[in-house]
Formats: sequence, structure tokens, C-alpha cells
Amino acid sequence: MSFQVFGLPVSRGVAIGRAVLVASSRVDVAHYFIEPSRIEGEIERLRAARDAVVNELEVLKRDLPADAPSELPALLDVHLMLLHDEALTGATRQWVIERHYNAEWALSAQLEVLARQFDEMEDEYLRERKADLEQVVERLLRALDRSGAPAFAPAPGVSERDFGGEDPLVLVANDIAPADMLQFKKSVFTGFITDVGGRTSHTAIVARSLDIPAVVGAREASRIIRQDDWLIIDGDAGIVIVDPSPIVLEEYRFRQRQSELERERLSRLRHKAAVTLDGEPVELLANIEMPGDASAALAAGAVGVGLFRSEFLFMNREGELPGEDEQYEAYRAAVEAMQGLPVTIRTVDIGSDKPLDRMSANELRHEHALNPALGLRAIRWSLSEPSMFRQQLRAILRASAHGKVQLLVPMLAHVSEIRLTFEAIARAQQQLSEAARPYGQVRVGAMIEVPAAALMLPTFLKHFDFVSIGTNDLIQYTLAIDRADEAVAHLYDPWHPAVLQLVAQTIRTARAAGKGVSVCGEMAGDPAFTELLLGMGLRSFSMHPSQISAIKQRVLRADARRLALHIDEVLSSEDPEAAYRQMLTAAAAREALETT
Ligand code: PEP
Ligand code: MG
Repeated sequence: MSFQVFGLPVSRGVAIGRAVLVASSRVDVAHYFIEPSRIEGEIERLRAARDAVVNELEVLKRDLPADAPSELPALLDVHLMLLHDEALTGATRQWVIERHYNAEWALSAQLEVLARQFDEMEDEYLRERKADLEQVVERLLRALDRSGAPAFAPAPGVSERDFGGEDPLVLVANDIAPADMLQFKKSVFTGFITDVGGRTSHTAIVARSLDIPAVVGAREASRIIRQDDWLIIDGDAGIVIVDPSPIVLEEYRFRQRQSELERERLSRLRHKAAVTLDGEPVELLANIEMPGDASAALAAGAVGVGLFRSEFLFMNREGELPGEDEQYEAYRAAVEAMQGLPVTIRTVDIGSDKPLDRMSANELRHEHALNPALGLRAIRWSLSEPSMFRQQLRAILRASAHGKVQLLVPMLAHVSEIRLTFEAIARAQQQLSEAARPYGQVRVGAMIEVPAAALMLPTFLKHFDFVSIGTNDLIQYTLAIDRADEAVAHLYDPWHPAVLQLVAQTIRTARAAGKGVSVCGEMAGDPAFTELLLGMGLRSFSMHPSQISAIKQRVLRADARRLALHIDEVLSSEDPEAAYRQMLTAAAAREALETT
């Protein structure tokens, strides 16, 4: 029976496919398709893993001390019985044979199916056997891991897309950590759905950068959607339609084609300069997460990188952070790929919903009682790890010998942090000089994402060459709304007058001081705000490459001078969104009059 699940739209477009449910803890399990010729080999891997676990458990049972609790042998028997149960092993094999899933993926898919059946059991004793099943699967996954992935296995999430015309797939999970989401970059999934998360959570941001329809904060989605259900994701409205009727399916296939045509049409603007109707040039820059994204930025017509979120190089490294040389190579790769265009590298912004270790925001929230968004994050973390920070600064300075590099510092709020940052930069330069290592000059900018920084902007402008407004955090910290928490997502309001006043004031003050100012938060890539920001005087926008053409289209149709005339009215309104719409309607009417 068809039904709908509602969440928050984070990435445009329509995706249609079958559900692949993945438990959060298993998102990092390798997901890839195997070639048909490898099916037998994969089944053999499964068989070998099962034999190894059976053996492990039999040895455990044999060696149980005489005084062991009497339940233990019975428990081991239950585990052994599960290992021989066709519902687990036979059905797992079927996922490999029919879907061409790799062994690990097949096992987690079957675990989802069985776990759900256990959840629905009336008998409490039987319901609790789910934990045994999970333990057995965990052992099997470990055994598969020990046996090593076969040599042909691509990186997690990467698809061979070699399984011959099967159905498209949509990933459904309780939560996906940002770094895990990034692994799905070249993946098989045509859409994502998560139970938790806000519109500007980093998981949502990465989903948007993948340019794949996604819905987050869909609450119960991973509980009510079943493995293999047909799904439609309406990424514009934040709706998931489960098991749609043929008529609805047809309607959405039509919309899917329309939105593809619209994208194609917009992409023709790629090489056009972004200039307003009244002749104001506007800089459209790209936000990237990895050096490899630079090519997409260039292809989309970006005139530089306005935000390279360097922390993605640091995540999921199992405690081993990238060294200076590794970072230098990564930054240099991005700089060279941009072919002389400027690259703004932000120093690491780890913490909050971007933990170093493989942990989703949800797990983070539950494991740490304190509020991580207000904790040791971004520059605070960097300053607490001075040698790591200098290492990153040296790598960025060295990369700047290969092109135009700007250095951007996140989450500053205190003058003492500004002073310590510049001391660290000077020390890094000195270390490079002493080691006779070549390095270039960088312009240094501050992110304005804490209200304190916006309110004391003149002090920031004395020290920095430019500022970049991080609206995602500025909204979070101005309104005291955790941007990753779907429970308060309805209060996360970019239209709030206080937010708009801070943004407008930052743009105005920076321009008056003759300093560069851009916006690199999600507002910059949202067409709903383009005229507003232009009217405030903004001439530099940084966004996901996939958004550049849509924003350019709005820039080309805007008259920045006229928009500026109405900004004070919008800013002083209790309902800026309504005032802004009125301003646009009036502008359109005036234009119509003038052309008649
Ligand atoms: C922001 O806060 O707006 C920003 C661009 O930084 P991030 O989203 O990485 O926190
Ligand atoms: Mg930020």
C-alpha cells in the first residue's frame, strides 16, 4: 500500500528506485556490485566466513570453563543454529546471486530484513533474539574482513555499475556521517533518505554536493520503509513516496525528465560571465570537499574555489591524521586543477557534526552529553593542537607556491584567537624559511559565523584581508538552533530578521572598509536569496558547483542598484520574507511597465 514519509528537502530533483536499508553502524560496510563472473567467488567468501565463525564458536564452547554460567553453552548453540539457518545464509546468498551485492552488503541487507521480523514478534523472548542475530552478523563481518576484500573490490560505496540494467537504488539510513556520505560520491545510489539531520547539517551539505535528490530528518523512514520497497524521493518538497501507484510513478517520471531538461538548459550558462542587468560583475565560486572536486567546479564555470573544507582530509582516518606532505599534495592538486584561479583553503573545521572518527552526528549526540556545536570545534580545536595546526599551515603555504591561495579561518570569535592564529602563521612561515622550503604569499581571511564576530567586524577587518560569511553557522549560533537537529529544524530560519541584519551589516561594513566579502554558507547557493544578497551589496557567492548555473541565471536577470533601494525596508520588516517577495513583485511590475 502506498504511503508518504515527510522530511526536509536538501537536494533537488526526483529519484526513483528500490530501497536499500543500511544500519548507521554499517554504512561504512563496503557496498559495491560484483561482476557476474565473481558471484561464485563471493559465495565462497561467505561460506568460508561462516565456516570460520562456526569453528570459532565450537572452540569457544569446548573451552568453556567448568564454572561458566549454564546459559553460555545454550547461547552459543543459538548462535550456531543461526549460522546454519537458511533464513540468514541462504537469503544472503540470494542477494549476491540476484542483486550482485558484495558479501558484506548482502549480509547487512539480510540482517535488516530479519531484524525487522524479530521486531514484529509478539513473544518477548523471541524478540530479544535479534541481539544474537546482530552478534552473529558482526562476527561474520569480522571474518570477512579478516579474509580480506578481494583484489578487484573498489573503495566502499564505489560501484562497478556492471550488473546489467537492474533497478536504481535509494539509500535509507537512520543517519549517515558526513565522511561516509562522501564515500558515496561515485556510488550506485540515486538518492538518500535519513531519519535525522537538518537542512544545513554537514551530511545534507555533502548530499547536496553530490547533486543527488535527498531528504533528511524523515524521522521514522528507516523503520517503516522496507528493504527493496519502491520509493520516489521528491527532493524539492522533502517527501518520500513509498510503493507508489503507477499513475504517481508516471507523474514523477515526467517531472524527473523535466528537471533533467531544466538542468541541461541551465548548464548552457556555464561559460557566460555573471554580470547583473546594470553591469555589476558577480563572482561565483565553488565549495569543495576534496581536491578531486576541483574539476567539477571548473566544469560548472566557477571562477575559483571560495571554500575548500579541508577537514574532509582528516576524517575517518582511524586516529592517523594526514601529515604535512600528504596535505601539501592534496592542496597542491586542488590549486593546480583550478588552473590559476584562486583557491580558498579553510583550515580544519573538525568537531560538532564533523567528528574525526567514524561517528554519525546522532551517535555523537548520544555519546557526548555536552553540546558539541559549542565545544572544541574548528579554530578552537586547531589552537588546542598547535603542532598539528602549524603542520596544516605549512602545507597550505607550500601549496601557495603553485597558484593563488587564500587561507580562511573558521569560527573565530575572540581577539586572542586572531592573535594566536597570526602567530601560528608567522611561525609556520619561519619554519619553512629555516628549512629552505619554497612557499608563497597568502591572503588571510576570517569566517564570520559566530554573532560575536559579526558584531565586532571592524576589529576583524583590521587584521584580515577578507571575510567570508558562514551563514550555516551564523544562523545556528544566532538563533541557538542545532543545525543538525531535525527536532528544531522548523526554527532554523535564514529569514529571521536578526540573521539578515547581521549578514547585511557584515557586507556593508566590509565593503566600506574596502575589504573582500563573500558568503559561503548554503544561502549563497539558494536561488531564493540571490536578489536579497545582491541588494545587500554582495558580489561574491560560494556554493556547490551544481548550483552555479541556477544562481547565475538569477544574477543575469537582476538589477542590483534597484534591489539595493528596497533592502532597508526588507530588513526592518517583521516578516522579511514577505517584504522581499513584495519587492520582487514590484520590481517585475515596473519592468513590465517600462518595456511596454
Ligand atoms: C557555514 O557555516 O556557513 C560554512 C560555510 O561552514 P560549514 O558549513 O562547513 O560549517
Ligand atoms: Mg561553518
